[in-house]
Amino acid sequence: MNLVMLGPPGAGKGTQATLLAEKLGIPHVASGDLFREALKEQTGLGLTAQSYMDRGELVPDEVTIAMVEERLARSDCDGGVILDGFPRTIEQAGALKRLLHDQGKVIDAAIFIDAAEDELVRRLSSRWTCRNCQAIYNVISNPPSEEGRCDICGGELYQRADDVPETVRNRIRVYRQQTSPLIDYYRDEGLLVTIKSEGGIERVQQKILEALQIT
Ligand code: AMP
Repeated sequence: MNLVMLGPPGAGKGTQATLLAEKLGIPHVASGDLFREALKEQTGLGLTAQSYMDRGELVPDEVTIAMVEERLARSDCDGGVILDGFPRTIEQAGALKRLLHDQGKVIDAAIFIDAAEDELVRRLSSRWTCRNCQAIYNVISNPPSEEGRCDICGGELYQRADDVPETVRNRIRVYRQQTSPLIDYYRDEGLLVTIKSEGGIERVQQKILEALQIT
């Protein structure tokens, strides 16, 4: 299964994509994680991406598409993939379609996780991420068992620099302008599945599994 996760920052795409990837036994490919890894390693790609990420702007399409193309070419994606945070523009969506088509593959569904905007800033400002395995916690609604430590790998939890309120507001603005047109794009392709991000992590996951008819 090749799935795309759509939705504003803070809607819960990453959390749901992680659970779904475990359930389906396929990789969870998050473009933001790929950029953050490149930045940690101080590669040319990471340094190019940094200034855009710091401002909450999108990294240019050609850079992003080349990075995701390389990741999708790896053999662990042969049996399917869950894409999280990519595509984010119509240009990227077209590139993804062509790329998969060239490998004899298609997108099976685009899962749009819908959340109210006033909720997003609140959620992102209380979000903590594992420096090691990228697991996501929320100090209010989904805290780790031990403060500052990842339940999964014991890694250190940190607050992303772009989760500060001013950058969050810009990320939401950028989402509205550049990414939300993908909702209509995937609706027109007959692939859109809309899920309301309400009722807690397990409930949202259950709604996704039901919509995809996964038991
Ligand atoms: P995320 O972890 O998905 O919130 O992404 C963090 C940042 O990485 C974004 O604010 C962008 O600067 C950059 N980024 C991630 N995915 C993309 C994408 N598909 N296109 C352009 N920039 C991206």
